[in-house]
Amino acid sequence: MAAPKHRRTALERVEKFLSETYFTDCNLRGRLFGDRCPPASLSCFQTPRRIPYDEAVRQEFRPAQVGDSFGPTWQTCWFKVELSIPPAWAGREVHFVWESDGEGMVWRDAQPVQGLTKEGEKTSYILTSSMKETEPHSLTLYVELACNGLFGAGKGSMIAPPDPDKRFTLSKAELVVFNRDVYELLVDLEILLDMAQLLGEENQRGSQALCAANQMVNVCNVTDPSTFPAARALAAAFFSQRNGESQHSIHAMGHCHIDSAWLWPFEETIRKCARSWVTVVRLMERNPELTFACSQAQQFEWVRSWYPGLYKQIQDFVAKGQFIPVGGTWVEMDGNLPSGESMVRQFLQGQRFFQQQFGRVCSEFWLPDTFGYSAQLPQVMRGCGIRRFLTQKLSWNLVNSFPHHTFFWEGIDGSRVLTHFPPGDSYGMHGRVEEVLRTVKNNKDKGRVNDSAFLFGFGDGGGGPTQEMLDRMKRMSDTDGLPRVQISTPDQLFSALEKESSQLYTWVGELFLELHNGTYTTQAQIKKGNRECERILHDVEVLSTLAMAQDGGFQYPASQLQRLWRLLLLNQFHDVLPGSCIQLVVEDALQYYAEILRAGAGLQQEAVQSLCRELLEPEAGDAGSTLVLNTLPWERTEVISKAGPAGTETLALVTVPSMGYAVVREPLLPPQPVVVRKLEDGSIAMENGVIAACLDVMGRLISLQLLDCQRESVPDGCRANQFALFDDVPLYWDAWDVMDYHLETRKPVTTLLKPLEVTLAGGLRGSVSFSLQIGKSSTLTQEIILDATCPYLRFLTQVEWKEAHKFLKVEFPVQVRSPNATYEIQFGHLQRPTHWNTSWDWARFEVWAHKWLDLSEHGFGVALLNDCKYGASAHGNILSLSLLRAPKSPDATADMGHHQFTYAVMPHLGSFQDAGVIQHAYSLNFPLHTVPARSAPCPPYSAFSVSSPAVVLETVKQAEDRPGAVVVRLYEAHGSTVVTWLQTSLPVEEAMLCDLLEQPVAAERLQLEQRGLRLSFTPFRVLSLLLVLRQ
Ligand SMILES: [Zn+2]
Repeated sequence: MAAPKHRRTALERVEKFLSETYFTDCNLRGRLFGDRCPPASLSCFQTPRRIPYDEAVRQEFRPAQVGDSFGPTWQTCWFKVELSIPPAWAGREVHFVWESDGEGMVWRDAQPVQGLTKEGEKTSYILTSSMKETEPHSLTLYVELACNGLFGAGKGSMIAPPDPDKRFTLSKAELVVFNRDVYELLVDLEILLDMAQLLGEENQRGSQALCAANQMVNVCNVTDPSTFPAARALAAAFFSQRNGESQHSIHAMGHCHIDSAWLWPFEETIRKCARSWVTVVRLMERNPELTFACSQAQQFEWVRSWYPGLYKQIQDFVAKGQFIPVGGTWVEMDGNLPSGESMVRQFLQGQRFFQQQFGRVCSEFWLPDTFGYSAQLPQVMRGCGIRRFLTQKLSWNLVNSFPHHTFFWEGIDGSRVLTHFPPGDSYGMHGRVEEVLRTVKNNKDKGRVNDSAFLFGFGDGGGGPTQEMLDRMKRMSDTDGLPRVQISTPDQLFSALEKESSQLYTWVGELFLELHNGTYTTQAQIKKGNRECERILHDVEVLSTLAMAQDGGFQYPASQLQRLWRLLLLNQFHDVLPGSCIQLVVEDALQYYAEILRAGAGLQQEAVQSLCRELLEPEAGDAGSTLVLNTLPWERTEVISKAGPAGTETLALVTVPSMGYAVVREPLLPPQPVVVRKLEDGSIAMENGVIAACLDVMGRLISLQLLDCQRESVPDGCRANQFALFDDVPLYWDAWDVMDYHLETRKPVTTLLKPLEVTLAGGLRGSVSFSLQIGKSSTLTQEIILDATCPYLRFLTQVEWKEAHKFLKVEFPVQVRSPNATYEIQFGHLQRPTHWNTSWDWARFEVWAHKWLDLSEHGFGVALLNDCKYGASAHGNILSLSLLRAPKSPDATADMGHHQFTYAVMPHLGSFQDAGVIQHAYSLNFPLHTVPARSAPCPPYSAFSVSSPAVVLETVKQAEDRPGAVVVRLYEAHGSTVVTWLQTSLPVEEAMLCDLLEQPVAAERLQLEQRGLRLSFTPFRVLSLLLVLRQ
């Protein structure tokens, strides 16, 4: 064997032998395809809609040719392709080759058979691997071409708003003879060349690879296929030299991350799923070892209803263990903003779907591409039958490199899950030498564990894995110098990691992504829709359950609620709720919210009608009164506004029992009325006996006092409720990112349009209002409201927002000193620092919270509550709420227009727990319901109450598939160990603990005692109970 004398010439010689650009007239690559033949005929028709096959083939097709272009964006072009295979091709492998910049689906005999997307290296549909003379030589195919690319149709850059006028070109449509022997040699040589280059000259194995490749080129005469076996034998001899025992194991799994909507609308995703999955099915037919991990029950449901034939094939491959449903959730949701209950429903809807369709639930949570992970997720996973978690996104951290790839992740309650980040830092690998080497090199736990995941396949429209990827990895299965690469499954990976887990480290608390922190604020209407819909579904479930318990004839709207929940869960997808999607998706999402609110309001009304029927029918001459319903689990005394005579609204102070109702005939008198006074300098003082506020003409708080103790909340010389505008120009990901340097551009908003004036003089409610000019063209009007007995000041805010790349926040400097602030998260809260000591601290300059955040020192604190905001920060003694952004990509119209939202400030004595901040934040988000009623006397009614203020009864619903049984979910909200009593007036016959999937967790029944059910909690523990009602 002649060894190469000169490394560089040998390397480049092999490169040229494989080149797609150079010397294709005489190199190996130039021989990949043999004879070609155009279609016998090609015709097409175009439609703006995404229509079914049956409708498409009935249309009139007009002649078309290669080189034609189609469009504009989002149209669909259907092609009829008549093919006639030349008889001389007998015995040859024949492909139908189709190249276009649009995404294609091949249909044959009315079934989808192959997805074709050039960007995903899918341009061939294999007609036969060896043409038989007896086979019919003529056939008709249809190609459905979507006028959008893999990443939509961004104008100029990927995430730019779509170009509405883009055209898509058909650049190739032909029959070709495919030379598989040439292909196999190409794959051999590519691997050897990569090893030679990447392992390097100083590495023995790298040098051997170069030697082998050089010799193969010597042996190979490209015009004489009879020389190929000798060349292949050289490669085989090299690849069969095996590794030692200590070598790292890579678990390769086919994957295709499909965003459920992003730079394209939901409807296109349905076709992306079909195109990708049919491609995977074809590949599985030829490669029985191929595995494919596939998440998101919603996408399975889409394919089930739109492509039943394909779905059947998928079910068969699921049964064979090749097509592997993973994740357990309805969609791959945002990991920060959905409420605790929403996260439970993601799993409840997902796992139940997987159980019904495939006979098993998923055992791993799968969320590779989400912008941070709540510290409550481990407990939610464990409650849904999941102990394993795979993600990857934290490799995108801009500041700190996450210290592990395999570790235990521990949530705020102490629940742990085994977590793995594929160390190659991608969920779209191509099975290349460089990637498997990087996987081992990057793996930060490789001394502790010897296994890594490797997800390969083109995502989104790319159609997942390719034959080349598989063939590369076959050669790398066990060859000295490379890690072992085995086609594996999530179960095999995690089982291997579990065996090695004794030395793993534990990460406690949230997995915060140090990037994409603008997604807590972008697309404010989507955030608001999410919060409102979470509220209405909560209320519908509570009221419908009470109605069902009271009246056996009431039909709990289980299927309607499932439909509405699934819409809400879909909108929680990780490019929708974060606001990182195009305008078309925003429009769909807002429509889904409107539908949930509309249908939810109807269901709520039906439940109230049934629950309170006798109270709702005023008799003739009845002066009428008001029924007030409370869906929260504590008694509330609040000022409500109720319908008065002739369309007027009147205020009343009412007390309503926990999860129940009361009829208000004689409103209560407040212990102290609200007093509003205008002072000489134009400022206004408001007080209600609990708090006293003083506001300047621009609506800023000069003073906010707790009257009990005369404690001031606003530091001397500071102004709270100060609006500030920041320049907001990130580095690339416009809708996603707010950068640290935006803080250096702060401009306080000080242009007054309308000075502060009194709008309600006091009594039960006092209010003042003012208007400001923001930036050049936006305006803000605020009404600041103080109710009798209420411990917080409410800011009802309207903004006309017309900015570009600006960020609006409101700031509350407070007279509190603490190194940590507290933020509400799902079923609990956590603390984050108020200082920027370390890089881990300052990287959290913009964080997320749910209904409240709080800054407390011993004995005193100030909380900020909100009804639809998620972005926040606390630096030093300044609490900020992030209100509006104005990114221009991928939606150029993002957040433009009218906004309404409410936040509130609540100073308090003692801890936020003892002061009831948690309960008040709920009350702000779940207003009391008022309904006109008859004035007959009626005792107040309470369905549930909880004896400890540390425990929140969050959810009351009918058990899935079990009419007559109720599920209630409670959590410990203070971070304490506590025993409490759950009291109910429902006719409970039997009570037992169940998991989040509503399966009883122990045979043991809970004792139903006089005081109710005795329940024990540890900090942030979530408990679900199954209550069987007496029929
Ligand atoms: Zn994604």
